[in-house]
Amino acid sequence: MSKEEYIKEAEESIVHTYNRFPVVFDHGKGVYLYDLDGKKYLDFAAGIAVCAFGYQNEEYNECLKEQLDKITHTSNLFYNVPTIRAAARLKKASGMDRVFFTNSGAEAIEGAIKAAKKYAYTRDGHAGHEVIAMKNSFHGRTVGALSVTGNEHYREPFLPLMDGVKFAEFNSLESVRALVTDRTCAIIFETVQGEGGIYPASDAFMQGVRKLCDERDILLLLDEVQCGMGRTGEMFAWQHYGIKPDIMATAKALGCGVPAGAFLLTEKTAQKSLAPGDHGTTYGGNPLIGAAVDKVLEMMERDRITEHVKTIAAYLEQKLDELVAAYDFLTERRGMGLMQGIVCEKPAAEIAAAALEHGLVVITAGGNVIRLVPPLIIEKEHVDEMVKKLKSVLNEE
Ligand SMILES: *Cc1c(COP(=O)(O)O)cnc(C)c1O
Repeated sequence: MSKEEYIKEAEESIVHTYNRFPVVFDHGKGVYLYDLDGKKYLDFAAGIAVCAFGYQNEEYNECLKEQLDKITHTSNLFYNVPTIRAAARLKKASGMDRVFFTNSGAEAIEGAIKAAKKYAYTRDGHAGHEVIAMKNSFHGRTVGALSVTGNEHYREPFLPLMDGVKFAEFNSLESVRALVTDRTCAIIFETVQGEGGIYPASDAFMQGVRKLCDERDILLLLDEVQCGMGRTGEMFAWQHYGIKPDIMATAKALGCGVPAGAFLLTEKTAQKSLAPGDHGTTYGGNPLIGAAVDKVLEMMERDRITEHVKTIAAYLEQKLDELVAAYDFLTERRGMGLMQGIVCEKPAAEIAAAALEHGLVVITAGGNVIRLVPPLIIEKEHVDEMVKKLKSVLNEE
């Protein structure tokens, strides 16, 4: 079948929830992707911040193949070694105390919200607690995650969603403080807003919310699904701020291509939170996924991926700042580490589509932001190649 025929078939059989780019990828190697026709693309999207080690990483692939031939699934009614190892590594990397593995980011957020509610329920002896979330946020598409997502377009058709959620202005401590009541159990936000347009939390906001949470025994729930796992130059972006959340959600690069997510709790939170019978998952943390997560964390730690990200991100930022200075319709660069956005006065989706023609994969965020979330293993030469390709695209605008 030709590419056109595959695309036609897809449009006739898969629910049309995405306006996909007309590309059918076939395989990848390193930081490059290849489509059905063998055309080569430099990948600065990494499957939306997932493929931290790019494609065909031999060590990762071998590990999965070995586990595949041993056992892939047991259910959570039994113990399995890969997942026990993965949990230990995740605890060490985050400094958190308890892990619950999930299959996706949205599912990690769902569990994290339940964990926060259960904490307040145990403490107060009654239910009916509230959550403060942020405008312009994104936490996933399931009903609970959508309930804390501050995007009317995503929410409207599905109302009413989960009760008791209020939305504050991101990076405005006063706006958060104004919404706190005796029933508030958690404040949730992304350390770096991703889908909304790459907005990092300010230092003052992070410190202020942490202090507010401490004063009122409210749980700070950070969504690190996109910005976590080394992407910003620390294993988790909150580690830049000298604070620690009570609950954290991670996913995307956690499995580097196999469906993996997790939420983590501090011991203090866990003591009053989920108990047997409160939560579950059939697939979450199965041996295949556990092996992948264990390997990803082993490689990130051993290869000092965060050091590499810091170095290469400094170069990327410099090059992007030059780009913004050179084109009058590019107005700003925002981001942390290898999670960068270029604010653009033209529709970012058109630029992303044109980039594909030039053999470059970039994605968008918040409508007018070109989002760059490359594999974490990129080198300077790849930054140079990306800039060269992006310039060709921008010169045509
Ligand atoms: C992608 C994302 C999610 C949802 O993850 P899924 O695996 O798509 O369910 C949640 N939060 C943030 C910040 C994300 O970027």
